[in-house]
Amino acid sequence: MNTAVAAPIASLANDLSKISAANKAFLARTHRLLIDGEWVPAASGKTFDVKDPSSDAVISRVAEGDAADIDRAVAAARHAFDEGEWSKLKPVDRERLLHRLADLIEKHADELAELESIDNGKSVVMARYVDVKHSLEVWRYMAGWPTKIEGKVLPVSGALMPDQQYAAFSMLEPIGVVGAIVAWNFPLVLATWKCAPALAAGCTVVLKPAEETPLTALRLGELIQEAGFPKGVLNIVTGMGPTAGAALSRHPQVDKVTFTGSTEVGRLIVQAAAGNLKKVTVELGGKSPAIVLPDADVDAAIAGTAGAIFFNQGQVCSAGSRLYVARQLFDRVVAGVADAAQSMKLGPGLDASAQINPLVSNIQRERVARYLKEGAAAGARAAAGGRALASPGYYVEPTVFVDVNESMSVVREEIFGPVVVAQPYDDVAEIARVANSTMYGLAASIWGRDVGKIFRLAPKLKAGTVWVNCHNMLDSTMPFGGYKQSGWGREMGGEAVRGYLESKSLCLNITG
Ligand code: NAD
Repeated sequence: MNTAVAAPIASLANDLSKISAANKAFLARTHRLLIDGEWVPAASGKTFDVKDPSSDAVISRVAEGDAADIDRAVAAARHAFDEGEWSKLKPVDRERLLHRLADLIEKHADELAELESIDNGKSVVMARYVDVKHSLEVWRYMAGWPTKIEGKVLPVSGALMPDQQYAAFSMLEPIGVVGAIVAWNFPLVLATWKCAPALAAGCTVVLKPAEETPLTALRLGELIQEAGFPKGVLNIVTGMGPTAGAALSRHPQVDKVTFTGSTEVGRLIVQAAAGNLKKVTVELGGKSPAIVLPDADVDAAIAGTAGAIFFNQGQVCSAGSRLYVARQLFDRVVAGVADAAQSMKLGPGLDASAQINPLVSNIQRERVARYLKEGAAAGARAAAGGRALASPGYYVEPTVFVDVNESMSVVREEIFGPVVVAQPYDDVAEIARVANSTMYGLAASIWGRDVGKIFRLAPKLKAGTVWVNCHNMLDSTMPFGGYKQSGWGREMGGEAVRGYLESKSLCLNITG
């Protein structure tokens, strides 16, 4: 690993003596699994450690569920869906429960943000005003859906039996039991993106949080209980991917699996789902381009593209990790983004003034460090950063690579860290082809002023979201997901709810 020590190590660790009493008590507990409305230990009795990414210190312990626990959780979700109290609730009652949960999330927003920050390493300010605020908006948005899920009356002609008369309808019904498996970069947000539309649609859920960041999902489980959801509607099994996650994705009693994570594991999920041909949504990786046009507002483009990559330490599926700048602006934009990188204060999540926080795990730091080494060895030059720190916390310097080309792994592969590769271009007509030259297709941003040019370029980009003069702007109303190997399906908006519904045609012979 390339290493450097940029600051006294003590200032890079959270001071946990100052956290809220509620979170102190929460961390001190050994957490159990939520199955059928009860908090139970893993059948194996096993637990695993949760660490603070700023210090590598163990801060909590969580039950390590595996296939046996997934069986129990799926059975509970199956019963709740097929014959439990949930299956008899009216849409308006589902709405009321979802709103009650949203109220509780709002009430505990500060505490949830602090917990997310300690668990993931991210800034407590970002956790409060991005993670928790956005999750709350999604729960509220989805709470409005149960009473708006409508079918259609179909104008059938009955051509096969012309002497008969028919009336036909298409109805939308909940798919059934949903297995939700999520990544660690936005733990509460990702759990929300899955659970909120699934519950709004009337499904029941077994949630498997990422092993690196199980805490806010477990707190969400407590709030779900406090809100009064019937037992078995949301079950939470913490555990490892290859055991608990794999068991959930192949389970024959699960009707749909919804996954957010790497493209590599996404492929395993799709294969595992083939057993009972369960429905699949997979939200996967990205290598999103940020394109600066010749007429861009340079200052706005610098601030915006720096934010596009360094937000959440670059651990964002839609991070603007490839920066393409019109040649005449290239040196100015790169100097600006490099300046921004160099001036960012490194520090732990609970230090509200810190702008770059630790990565989620040592494994992730090592992975990013390997890319930094590979990039440098291949001839990429670091205009800023370039090193992982040797501190106990998992820090990596924000890095801007120039002198890069398509043959380098840092240009082709998703690094999932604070590393951007910057390249100049000469021909606007060519930039869509270059921007699309990746297996991913999650997002892109365009920075410029000429509306005509922007509108001609946007449709050519193979990406599920194209931002103009902004990046990473997400909203509960705006479907989010990928083209190409960035996934199948969409999160948020009505499209997400539709992903948890089956359509049933009902045809009546009404011949008189
Ligand atoms: P990951 O694929 O390693 O893990 C994601 C989840 O899958 C975890 O809960 C893990 O335990 C589980 N898992 C691992 N192996 C499994 C298996 N064999 N069977 C079933 N489940 C298994 O991903 P990660 O490193 O946690 O997250 C980073 C990735 O997530 C990045 O590629 C990022 O782009 C992607 N991501 C995508 C979106 C999106 O909306 N498109 C959002 C956030 C993150």
